[in-house]
Amino acid sequence: MSSTSSTGSATSSTTTLITNIASLVTNDPSLGDGSPLGLIQDAAVVIDGDRIAWTGDSRKAPATDNRVDAGGRAVIPGFVDSHSHLVFAGDRTQEFNARMSGRAYSAGGIRTTVAATRAASDEELERNLTHYLAEALRQGTTTFETKSGYGLTVEDESRALRIAAAHTDEVTYLGAHIVSPDHADDPAAYVALVTGEMLDACAPYARWIDVFCEKGAFDGEQARAILTAGKAKGLHPRIHANQLTYGPGVQLAVELDAASADHCTHLTDADVDALASGATVATLLPGAEFSTRAEWPDARRLVDAGVTVALSTDCNPGSSFTSSVPFCIALAVRDMGMTPDEAVWSATAGGAAALRREDVGRLAPGAYADLAFLDAPSHVHLAYRPGVPLVREVWRRGTRV
Ligand SMILES: [Zn+2]
Repeated sequence: MSSTSSTGSATSSTTTLITNIASLVTNDPSLGDGSPLGLIQDAAVVIDGDRIAWTGDSRKAPATDNRVDAGGRAVIPGFVDSHSHLVFAGDRTQEFNARMSGRAYSAGGIRTTVAATRAASDEELERNLTHYLAEALRQGTTTFETKSGYGLTVEDESRALRIAAAHTDEVTYLGAHIVSPDHADDPAAYVALVTGEMLDACAPYARWIDVFCEKGAFDGEQARAILTAGKAKGLHPRIHANQLTYGPGVQLAVELDAASADHCTHLTDADVDALASGATVATLLPGAEFSTRAEWPDARRLVDAGVTVALSTDCNPGSSFTSSVPFCIALAVRDMGMTPDEAVWSATAGGAAALRREDVGRLAPGAYADLAFLDAPSHVHLAYRPGVPLVREVWRRGTRV
C-alpha cells in the first residue's frame, strides 16, 4: 500500500483500486464537491482489506495490488436499512389483497404473524431471515437492523433475537410491539413482563430496545417505562412513533435520547422542533404508507427544519413487504418532497446516523468498504428510473458479494 493509505501500514492485506467511476457518492463533504453527498466525478476508491483506504480523482489514485474497472458507472455507499422486521413466519397476502381491493378484512394483523412465528421452527425462521437478507443485499443493502416483536413470550422473543444476532450487530428487542394476545385483558401485566423477565432474557442478544407507541399499542407512560427499563439493562432506545396518529412518541424519543423516532407521519410543530433540537434521527418508512394507502410523511418539512432524516424499508409481512431501499428512495422523492440527493443521503448516511454508526454509510478512509455499483452514470437514477434493478454489483467489507 502506498503512503496515501490512512489505515495502519503494518498489515499486509490486499489493496484493490476501483477506478473509472463516473460519479462517486462519498457522503463526506470534505472529499468531493462540498455538498453533503461529497460527490466526486471521474473517481476512484482504494480498498485495503475490509476498509476504504483512499477516495479521490481517478488520475491521482495510488498503486494497488488489484484493479477493478467500474465501466463508467456510479458508485454509492451500501444502503443502511435501519428498520426492518425480518424474524417472522407466515404470509399476509389475503390481508393486503383485501385492503387493496377496498374490502373489509377482519383477520388479526400483527397477531396473525405472531401465531405463525410462534408455530415455526428455529430453522424455518432463520431460513426466512436469510432469504430476505439475500434479497436486500442484491438490492444494495449492506447494513441492516432487525427486530423481534412477533413472539411476545419470553421464549419466542429471545429466540427471535438469538437468530437475528447471528446475522447482524443491529438487533432490536421489540417485545412491546403490541400487547400480547395472552395478556389482552391485563396490559399492565404484559408491560411488567416486557420490562422484567422478558427483558432479562432478551438483553444479551440486543443492542436496542423499541416500543410501538400508538393508540391500540402502548401509550406514552408505558413506552417511557419500557424504554427506561431497557436503558437500565444497557440497551439504547428507538421508538415506533407518530405513525397512525399524533402522540407523545416523538417527544419521548428526543427526551430519552433515542437514536431514532421511526415513522413520524403525524407531527405537530412542537414535534418537529423537538427533533430539530435533539440528537434523535427521524426515520421515514414510505413502504408502510405505500402498502396501506396512507398519508405520506412530510420529509420536506423535516429537512427544512434541520432534522436528520433516515429512509428505511420497515420490511415486514403486514404493512410494508418490500426489502428495496431504491423503491423507498423513489417514493421519498416523488411523494415526500425530498430531492434525489437528500433521499440517497438519508438511505445511506442517514441510516448510519439512526444506528449511531460512523463506519458505514459513507465511503471515506477508515469506513467499511461497503458499496454498490449502479447501472447508471449517477445516483439520481435511483429516483429517475423507479422499479428498475439498477444495483449491478455489491461489495461488503471489501469483498464482492
Ligand atoms: Zn416497524
